[in-house]
Amino acid sequence: MATYDLVVIGTGPGGYVCAVRASQLGMKVAVVEKNASLGGTCLNVGCMPSKALLHASEMFEEAAHSFAKMGVSISAPKLDLPAMMNFKQQGIDGNVKGVEFLMKKNKIDVLKGSGKILGTGKVEVSADGKSQVIETKNIVIATGSDIARLKGIEIDEKRIVSSTGALSLEKAPGRLLVIGAGVIGLELGSVWRRLGSEVMVVEFLDRILPGMDGEVARQFQRILEKQGFAFKLGSKVTGVESNGKALLAKIEPAAGGAAETIEADVVLVCIGRVPYTDGLGLKEAGVALDNRGRVQIDAHFATTLKGVYAIGDVVAGPMLAHKAEDEGVAVAEILAGQAGHVNYDVIPGVVYTTPEVSSVGKTEEELKQAGVAYTVGKFPFTANGRSKVNQTTDGFVKILADAKTDRVLGVHIVGREAGEMIHEACVLMEFGGSAEDLARTCHAHPTRSEAVKEAALAVGKRAIHM
Ligand SMILES: Cc1cc2nc3c(=O)[nH]c(=O)nc-3n(C[C@H](O)[C@H](O)[C@H](O)COP(=O)(O)OP(=O)(O)OC[C@H]3O[C@@H](n4cnc5c(N)ncnc54)[C@H](O)[C@@H]3O)c2cc1C
Repeated sequence: MATYDLVVIGTGPGGYVCAVRASQLGMKVAVVEKNASLGGTCLNVGCMPSKALLHASEMFEEAAHSFAKMGVSISAPKLDLPAMMNFKQQGIDGNVKGVEFLMKKNKIDVLKGSGKILGTGKVEVSADGKSQVIETKNIVIATGSDIARLKGIEIDEKRIVSSTGALSLEKAPGRLLVIGAGVIGLELGSVWRRLGSEVMVVEFLDRILPGMDGEVARQFQRILEKQGFAFKLGSKVTGVESNGKALLAKIEPAAGGAAETIEADVVLVCIGRVPYTDGLGLKEAGVALDNRGRVQIDAHFATTLKGVYAIGDVVAGPMLAHKAEDEGVAVAEILAGQAGHVNYDVIPGVVYTTPEVSSVGKTEEELKQAGVAYTVGKFPFTANGRSKVNQTTDGFVKILADAKTDRVLGVHIVGREAGEMIHEACVLMEFGGSAEDLARTCHAHPTRSEAVKEAALAVGKRAIHM
């Protein structure tokens, strides 16, 4: 008799959510975690600490630049970075405790140590030189991802940092060079720019935010430039040296050509993440990887080894916490004989800068490439009453609808609170709704969400306030 119905390896948002759902469905569950604290990348060195610093640094910048115009007079705010880091840590600790509470509440055993799959139904858990073998009916691999490294650039997490080091710098660097204009680079670049750093972002491609709608990325780049970001697109960093005082980054055009040297005090390497499978014993156990090192799964999250499943960053798809969570729920439901499912066409993505960027569904580029005829409805926040009174009018809402059926295929927002506003589009798209449906849905006034309704009206060329 197996001790458990399910053993989940990894307690990030994929793993712990999977464990909770499986327990709700009556399974006896254990989680295995090699880190000192539960919660994975997301809670410890990802989503949560970055959002704490984004919030605190935004407040700092608002206090310095926005309060006076609203008639709130204060003396210039001073940065107390240790206190800000403490604020971040309190947020991490609170969330980690929350996961510990959920494990207890759902009677899930927490096995501290490194998990290795010995074969179907067998997981070895090792810690402090000791190991035990756990028997289980099913195993879910939820071991997440690790930072991607650049050949020849050694990350020391002090001066040449990954996102992890950039969340714990001891002072705001004078000059911060960010390698990679993806979501994490722009978020952490924003934090340090607000706290006083000069930020330059070097990106291999000729655009920022690869994968997001091109028009959105272009407008967002202009907004970031107005805030003081400098961009070097179509360029690659080929090496970083130190002259004792400063770091010297060698930068070449992506297409080849003369190199230049840019000085920086801290270099942040933010070129993406790679699936993490170290020490799991996958090869020996017979769990296959795909050509990008991710655990290979079928449409039901099953790996090539019977009774072993995988979810989250360690498998294909967007490396996002909510995608991992939804997969965790789906696989638990499948194991319970239900029809667990994730709709990969409706997974929102958010950049938590100021303004925020959010998006769900297809971009214009994707629709063009697929030869789908579409109509565009756009509405700028400059024409939204609430944004005007708050004087936060950067950005716009863009809705892409099928030209024949009016079904909404994609929604893209640049603007304050865009990350909260995207969800009505997600619900609409889950129900296969049309721009007309959205346009005829009453929206509270005055809200920024009225811009979403107006963009839906604009699909039919009948926006009221424009
Ligand atoms: C700076 C940063 C900011 C981010 N911001 C966001 C955001 O705002 N929104 C968003 O959706 N996503 C964000 N992400 C991405 C998000 O963190 C990941 O998509 C998410 O954490 C993936 O969840 P997961 O459960 O697959 O794996 P993880 O969260 O990576 O968890 C995996 C866990 O498995 C454990 N583990 C690994 N191997 C073993 C083993 N052999 N035995 C035992 N335990 C093991 C690890 O210790 C870890 O705790 C961010 C990432 C970073 C780095």
